Amino acid sequence: LRSPLPSMRGYATMIPMVDKVTPKQQEFVDKIVGGIEHMTHLIDDLLDIGRIEAGVDIEMSPCRVDELARRVMQELRPRAIANGLELAMHLQEAAISPVWGDRVLLGHAITNLVDNAIKYTFEGSVSVGLMEKGSQVVVWIRDTGIGIEAVHLPHLFEKFHRIKRRDTIKIKGTGLGLAIVKSIADLHKGRVWVESDPDRGSTFYLALPKHVSE
Ligand code: ADP
Repeated sequence: LRSPLPSMRGYATMIPMVDKVTPKQQEFVDKIVGGIEHMTHLIDDLLDIGRIEAGVDIEMSPCRVDELARRVMQELRPRAIANGLELAMHLQEAAISPVWGDRVLLGHAITNLVDNAIKYTFEGSVSVGLMEKGSQVVVWIRDTGIGIEAVHLPHLFEKFHRIKRRDTIKIKGTGLGLAIVKSIADLHKGRVWVESDPDRGSTFYLALPKHVSE
């Protein structure tokens, strides 16, 4: 599925290099390239879900979620700054217990949640925090964004569920990001959920069982 896409993108971007194009032709080329990029993201996300659901290439080990969250924040900070948002981290005083998980997938889940918080927040801040609750470590991602109306909450983690709003029409996405987070949570016998106030923003929670050493 993925292999024809780079050459399609390559040839489409070469069209304006081989001859003069009119503004309309350039607009069409840009649309083709945009479509190919969208399809690339879609295929990558579908392959990810397939891999996670099939349990392929999973490497479980004790993971420090606070370290993963810190790395994700470092990676996404430039995007938050570019959008004029503050990005903050809240950690409890005591050290956070490790969880039993796949480092790459847990990083992927946190990335999707922080990335969404940045995408759907037009002003204010995105905060990431961690806490321990009984036998679980909970990472939370809070934003001051557009929020989610209650009617959408039961379907939010379903594949391809995107909320149609006038102010988010230009925001790109596949509708698979939260489905991937849910698959990763399920794989770790964890849970993901959201609390949201359409006027004030949303908080997503990802709870993961602590690693119990024998
Ligand atoms: P997408 O690729 O569309 O971002 P996701 O599966 O990540 O797909 O999210 C599904 C939908 O949930 C989004 O289209 C958006 O409408 C809504 N959503 C996700 N995260 C947030 C958030 N932090 N604030 C408001 N809406 C959100």
